Amino acid sequence: MNLNKYKSKRNFDITNEPEGSIKKDNLHRFVVQEHHARNLHYDFRLEMEGVLKSWAVPKNLPEKPGIKRLAVMVEDHPVEYIDFSGDIPEGEYGAGTVYIYDKGYWHLRTGDLLKGSLKFYLDGKIFQGDYALVKLKDGKNWLIYKI
Ligand code: MN
Repeated sequence: MNLNKYKSKRNFDITNEPEGSIKKDNLHRFVVQEHHARNLHYDFRLEMEGVLKSWAVPKNLPEKPGIKRLAVMVEDHPVEYIDFSGDIPEGEYGAGTVYIYDKGYWHLRTGDLLKGSLKFYLDGKIFQGDYALVKLKDGKNWLIYKI
């Protein structure tokens, strides 16, 4: 994990997004941020390995089993990003408005990201229950679904 890609995409003199740093502790939080960028999408982030592992989910996470949604893995974000909401200025990467859609805690069930399969429990206000993230063959796209 590292934040080089995150930092290289942003000018912290202009954007209000946190510059952040890699953390030693892990509070096992998650967030879903509603991001009104060029295309509306939802950013799903899991606190792990000192950063927020992140996916852009165009149609948001499902609230019920039986629905699989595309989740595109994006660059690691700093843990501080978990509290970010507000406007990203025009001309900046991801320009638009970010709202916190849901947040809470997560618990690992089985698997790991390197193996391309992670099962976990989400304990949020909207998203509650067991979920799976499974990597597709192309290596960047994942599916997320409720079990
Ligand atoms: Mn986004």
